[in-house]
Formats: sequence, C-alpha cells, structure tokens
Amino acid sequence: MRIVVYTPGDEASAWCTELLRRLPGAEVWVFDPADAHRQADFAVVWAPPADMFAAPAPFKAIFTMGAGVDRLLRTPDLLALTRGAPIIRLNDAGMSAQMAEYVCHALVRHTRQLAAYEAQQAAGQWHKWPGISREEWPVGVMGLGSIGEPVARAVAALGYPTLGWSRSARKVEGIETLHGAAALDGFLRRVRVLVCVLPLTPETDGLLNRERLSQLKSGGYLINVARGQHVVDEDLIALIDAGHLAGATLDVFREEPLPAAHPFWRHPKIAVTPHISAITLLAESAAQIAGKIRQLEAGEPLARIDGVVDAARGY
Ligand code: NAP
Repeated sequence: MRIVVYTPGDEASAWCTELLRRLPGAEVWVFDPADAHRQADFAVVWAPPADMFAAPAPFKAIFTMGAGVDRLLRTPDLLALTRGAPIIRLNDAGMSAQMAEYVCHALVRHTRQLAAYEAQQAAGQWHKWPGISREEWPVGVMGLGSIGEPVARAVAALGYPTLGWSRSARKVEGIETLHGAAALDGFLRRVRVLVCVLPLTPETDGLLNRERLSQLKSGGYLINVARGQHVVDEDLIALIDAGHLAGATLDVFREEPLPAAHPFWRHPKIAVTPHISAITLLAESAAQIAGKIRQLEAGEPLARIDGVVDAARGY
C-alpha cells in the first residue's frame, strides 16, 4: 500500500517513520510538489495544499492528524479536489486526557482564585479568600464527543455539578445531558463555567455571542478549547468588562498565532495559551491511523471505522 504524508510543520518524516514501523512493507513518503502526480492509496495530512490531490485517482481515504476537520471542510475548492474520498479524523488518540487536565486546571485556577494568589505572591501579600462550595459552580460542557465526554467526566469527578450538551441525545453517567438547539438556552442559564469542546461547523460558528454568553449565570466564566471561531471576541470582552462574566481561559483563536495587538493578550481577566490544550501525539496517532488503514485494507466497511467524517454535518 502507498501512503503520502503532508504537514506544514517539520514532522512529516517522523510521521513516515512511525507509520512505516506499524505498516512494514508499505511505501510511505513525504509529499513532494515536484512529484505531485505520484499515486498513493492513502493520504495522512494536516492543512494539505491543493496539489496534494493532483494524482490521477482519488485516495481510498484521507486521514487528518487532528480531531477537527474544519479547515479541510471549510475550504470548498479543496473539498472538491478530494473527489469524495472518505475523510477520517483522529479519535482521542491521547488528546482527551490532555484536554481534561487543561480544563480541570483552568476551572480550579478560577474557582479557587489561584490567579489572585499568584498576584498576591508577586506583591508579597498574605491574604486568604473564603472557601468555595462546588454546588455554586455548575459547569456546562458543550460537545460530548471523543474529547468532550471524558472532559465532562473529569469535571464531574472533581465534584462540580456537571451538565453536558450535544447535538443528539447522549447518556453519560454522573452528568445531566441535554441536546439540540431547543435545549441550549435552558442549558446556558444553569451554567456558571462554560467549557466549549464543539467542532467548528456552520451551526456552531459564532455560537458564543453576546446573546448566548449573557445567559450564563452572573459571574460566568468561559473555557474555550475548541476553535476560536466559536466565540465572538468583542462580545466576550464587552460582557467581561461590563462585569457579567468574570473572565475566560482561551486556548484557540480566530487568527493563530493570536495577533500581537489583540486585546485578549493583555486583558487582566483573560488567560491565553497557544493552542496547546491537546497536542497531537505522534506515536498514538500514527498507531491509530495505521490500525484504520489495516481495517480498510482488510475490507472492513467504512461504517465500522471510527471517526469517518460526515461532510454534510460538518464533523
Ligand atoms: P467529536 O467526537 O466529533 O464530538 C463532537 C461533539 O460535539 C459531539 O458530542 C456532537 O454531538 C457535538 N456537536 C456537534 N455539533 C453540535 C451542535 N450543532 N450542537 C450541539 N452539539 C454539537 O469531536 P471531538 O473529537 O470530541 O473534538 C471536538 C473538537 O475539539 C474538535 O472538532 C476540535 O475543534 C477541538 N479540538 C481542539 C484541540 C486543541 O488543542 N485546542 C485539540 C483537539 C480537538 P453528537 O454527540 O450528537 O454527535
């Protein structure tokens, strides 16, 4: 079998090595624009260029090196070039544990006022703030997929009342779940800390705007680990500055790297990290993709492969 690999970063050869280790006998190469017509059976990509799809026949499948496929689906010319090849995303592959850690850290840092204690240390101040009752901190997790569900479970395990919201009905032990657009307002009104783990789709683009964010309980807090486009930046800042929201932890942005002049950088109530809440782990991810390639080569139907993207649904 023939596999072509592309990533704009400098890890393409490492991906080839990891895939080859798990698929001995395969022909695996880094995409070369000078040899764009070389036919491969499978593509393993992140942010692929258009000429990656120049070979005579479509790929049997295109694997993405991440969980989100918005970049591929939202570039219509690129999507057309795939000629209907199935797009298969990563399912967890070590990301949910990282995301759960990140979200729990951001949650506890806020509820336990750890940022205030850091500032007090810098000023050499000894001052104790009152303790918290977790009952007063209901957490709402938007998106209960391969990453969102473990995140919601981790939050619930800390003892915070936890609600989850998804597109279709989901049962998660220890978590109250709601689903669908009609349940969104009721969900938001019950939440004080909102965690976004949604995919970016036409339905979720700009979802966290002034109208929705202002429904959070007074003193609400946002943790966004999904995509920057979920949030309307000006609306978030306006609600924080007006005192309705207490602040936000943001890992993802409309433009990345976050431009130097963006107000998020210096806002005293916003914590910023450079899209690191869940990093693609090479060994785990290559193992998962190699396993799926083996399944496909053994003739398993797509319906039995985890993470096949529904382009019409957007994730
Ligand atoms: P997933 O398994 O596809 O789960 C998506 C969840 O969102 C599902 O529960 C789905 O509902 C729900 N959903 C989708 N559209 C919805 C809508 N319109 N209304 C309500 N719920 C909706 O995805 P995942 O693997 O958990 O990843 C989620 C996202 O995390 C990715 O798309 C990516 O954007 C982001 N991510 C970020 C990082 C980072 O480092 N910051 C890393 C990895 C992933 P159903 O259950 O009904 O399908």
